Amino acid sequence: MTDLLKKLNRNPLTGWLVRALGLPDPVDLARHTGGYQAQPLSGKRALLCRSPEGYAAGQLACALAADGATVLHALHAAEQERIDIVVMDATGCSTPAQLRALYDAFHPAIRRIARNGRVLIAAADPAEAAGAGAVAAATARGVEGFCRSLGKELGRKGITANLAYVQREAADRLDGLVHFFCGKQATYVSGQTVTVTMQVKAPNAAPFAPTLPGKVALVTGAARGIGAATAERLAQDGATVICVDVPAASADLDALCMRIGGMPLELDIAAPDAAPQLAALLVERFGGVDIVVHNAGITRDKTLGKMDGATWDTVLNVNFAAIAAIDEALLSGRVLRDDGRIVCLSSISGVAGNFGQTNYATTKAALIGYVAALAPVVASRGICVNAVAPGFIETAMVAKMPFMTRELGRRLNSVQQGGLPRDVAELITFLCTPGAHGITGNTIRVCGQGLIGA
Ligand code: NAD
Repeated sequence: MTDLLKKLNRNPLTGWLVRALGLPDPVDLARHTGGYQAQPLSGKRALLCRSPEGYAAGQLACALAADGATVLHALHAAEQERIDIVVMDATGCSTPAQLRALYDAFHPAIRRIARNGRVLIAAADPAEAAGAGAVAAATARGVEGFCRSLGKELGRKGITANLAYVQREAADRLDGLVHFFCGKQATYVSGQTVTVTMQVKAPNAAPFAPTLPGKVALVTGAARGIGAATAERLAQDGATVICVDVPAASADLDALCMRIGGMPLELDIAAPDAAPQLAALLVERFGGVDIVVHNAGITRDKTLGKMDGATWDTVLNVNFAAIAAIDEALLSGRVLRDDGRIVCLSSISGVAGNFGQTNYATTKAALIGYVAALAPVVASRGICVNAVAPGFIETAMVAKMPFMTRELGRRLNSVQQGGLPRDVAELITFLCTPGAHGITGNTIRVCGQGLIGA
C-alpha cells in the first residue's frame, strides 16, 4: 500500500499545499533489509550516559562496541557532529533527586540526535527496586514516563526511544537488546518497555552467533502479510520454516515456500484435530520444533449488539483457543524443544480495546495474559514466551478498513505513518534468537508509538 500523503509531500507541485494545510510530513524511515549482520552499528556514533551507582553501563558499552559503534562518554559543546544513538544507564536512579541524571544526559544531546537515531535507556526493575522501598520502585517507574515522552518528542525525526527494566543479576543479558533496539530493525518499535530477567536459563549457543541455522520454525497464517514477512525473515537467518495457512491460500503459500525454501502446510488451525495433527507431523518430519509463531488471526468486526454468536465463536476459536490447543500439544509431548521460543501476535486492540472489536480485542488481550502466565511455567526448560502487539501495519487486514478510519490509524503515532509487515517480522525474529533469553512474558508493541492505548 502506498502512503499517499508521503507522495504528495515529496511532489514539488503538491508539497506546498500539504504543508499549508498543516498536514503531517512523515519522515522516510531507515529499514534493515538483509539477514543477520555481525556489526550493524558500524560507523554509528553512540553516546553512553550513566547515573551514579548504575549497574548496566559496562555491559551497555561492551555491547555497543561489539556491534561496531564508536562509543562516546561525553559530548563536547564545541563539536557539532551528530550522534546516532544515545544509551543511558539509569539503573542507579533510586530517589527523585537522582532522576536529574536523565535531564542532565538528554538535555544537551537531544537536538544533536540524527534522523532515524535510537535511544535506549536501562532502568532498575521496579519490582526488584521495591525491595529498597516504595520511593526506589516509583523512581524506577518514573524513567518509563520520561522515555515514552522522549519517544513522542523525537518520533517525527524517525528516532525511536525504548526502555529496558533490568534486574541486577541480568545486566549481562543486554547484548541482544542493544543489537535490536539500537539498530535499524527497531524502526517501528518505540515507547516500549521490556523487562530483562534471569527467569530463563541461558541457551547453550553463543547469544549472537549466526542466529538460527539448524532451527525449525513454525509460522501460522504465513501466506501473506506479517506471517509471510516473518517466515521470510526467519529463513534469512537460517531457520527451516514450516508455513501454515488455510487451503484457500495455497497458491500464495506455495509461492512463498518456493522463495524461502520452506515447507507449505495447508491446515485450518481451528479444525478440531489441528493440534495433534501438527504435533505428529513436526515429530515425524523434523523430530520437533524450536520456534512457534502464532500469527494466524482474523477479524469479524460488528458492534456487540449486532454480533451473532457464530461470529463471536469463530474469532475466539482462531485467535485464542487454537493457539492454546497447539501449545498444549507441543508442550505436553515435548515437541517444542528445550531453549524454544513461542511468539503470539496480539494487537493494540488487545491493549486498548477497539470499537466494533469486542470479540477480536478479547482474544488479543487474552494472549497478553497468556504469555505472562505461561512464561514461568516453561522457563526451566529455557523456553521464552512473548507477545508482539502490532499497531497499524500495511496489510490486507487493514486495507479492509473504511478510508477515514484507515487514515487516522496510519497517522496517530509518533512517526505519523503505518508500519510494514517486515517491521513486525524483525521484532519477532529478534525474540526467537538465543540472544533474547532475558526476555519472557513480555508484550511489546510494534506501533510507531501509537497514540491509542499507549
Ligand atoms: P492477514 O489477514 O493479512 O493474514 C492472516 C493470515 O492468516 C492469512 O493468510 C489467513 O489466510 C491466515 N489464517 C486465517 N485464519 C486461519 C486459520 N484458521 N488457519 C490457518 N491460517 C489462517 O493478517 P495480518 O495483517 O498479516 O496480521 C497477522 C497477525 O497480526 C494477526 O494475528 C493479526 O490479528 C495481527 N495484527 C495485525 C495488525 C495489522 O495492522 N495488520 C494489527 C494488529 C494485530
